[in-house]
Amino acid sequence: MENSKTFHRKKIVTIFFGSLMIILLLAARLGYLMIFQSDYYTEKADDLHERERSIKAARGRILDANGTVIADNKTVCTISVIHNQIKEPDKVVEILSRELELSEDYVRKRVEKYSSIERIKSNVGKEKGDAIRAYNLEGVKVDEDYKRYYPYDTLASKVLGFTGGDNQGIIGLEVKYEEYLQGQEGMILTVTDARGVEIDAAGEKRVESIPGNDLYISLDMNIQSYATQLAKQVMETKEAERVSILVMNPQNGELMAMVDVPEFDLNNPYTLPEGIDSESLTEEQKQEQLNRMWRNGCINDTYEPGSTFKIITAAAGLEEGVVTPEDRFSCPGFIMVEDRRIRCHKTAGHGAQNFIEATMNSCNPVVMELQA
Ligand SMILES: [Zn+2]
Repeated sequence: MENSKTFHRKKIVTIFFGSLMIILLLAARLGYLMIFQSDYYTEKADDLHERERSIKAARGRILDANGTVIADNKTVCTISVIHNQIKEPDKVVEILSRELELSEDYVRKRVEKYSSIERIKSNVGKEKGDAIRAYNLEGVKVDEDYKRYYPYDTLASKVLGFTGGDNQGIIGLEVKYEEYLQGQEGMILTVTDARGVEIDAAGEKRVESIPGNDLYISLDMNIQSYATQLAKQVMETKEAERVSILVMNPQNGELMAMVDVPEFDLNNPYTLPEGIDSESLTEEQKQEQLNRMWRNGCINDTYEPGSTFKIITAAAGLEEGVVTPEDRFSCPGFIMVEDRRIRCHKTAGHGAQNFIEATMNSCNPVVMELQA
């Protein structure tokens, strides 16, 4: 009996001190949160009460030498839900999943999620966005946004490049001039109470967005279109894998056309060319194929100038008086340069010819003689 009493007393003392320890720890933790972490939690609460929605900035357009718009923006909508403001969750789930062609599970998960704002779908067409707005559902927000649009689809695709989901440049001029094109996002700040109901008196703070700058380039879409047709013809007749054409203004070196067929569709830049089964590829292989498709051979690959450079040699020779158009030459089909025998493309030789004829024949030995 005595023993059992001592045992009970010991137990009570242990529990008492144990509880005291726990209470002290909790008090210390509470003090820590209230005093030292107060800034952090105030900010968190503000985040929850001040609902921030961004106003997207219109990206600058890209215009060709004639002022034709070749990269433009289309208005699209972003549909979001605010958990606390939704009064009829079932109706919201039903309408949004039907209108946006999403599974009910997907929408319900977002509708039921306790967060300040939850995005359901972006890049929704303006008509669809207006239709959803017309339902006047409480807790459903339709915000307008911009999506890049290329009116010429494939024309100059490798030069222009395209943008990603957040309208940021991915390749080409779109990424090269990102800082000028992107503009600055604005925002709408709404203050709400703890239940997420907007406090009217607090009002809306609105910071307008600043649109990006337009980019004017020297490319001429008429010349570009003509050069593209030519390149496609050559690719077909020569059964080439790719054909590049550069058209430059000889007065100032401005690029008037830069073609590298096959081009790709700027409005669907992630669709691989026909004949490639993207299903059977790993993510890495698919990315490799995409990079190959987007690659601009005109600026990324080197190609020996070959006979095109003869024009420069000939022009320099004439200007310096080293040669006149009437000068006579003889081509035996090869020429010795130091210890090397370099052949003419016509191995039998062009025979006797004047400089004009040699240039027309694109005769190798004559041009080499000129350089010596
Ligand atoms: Zn020759």
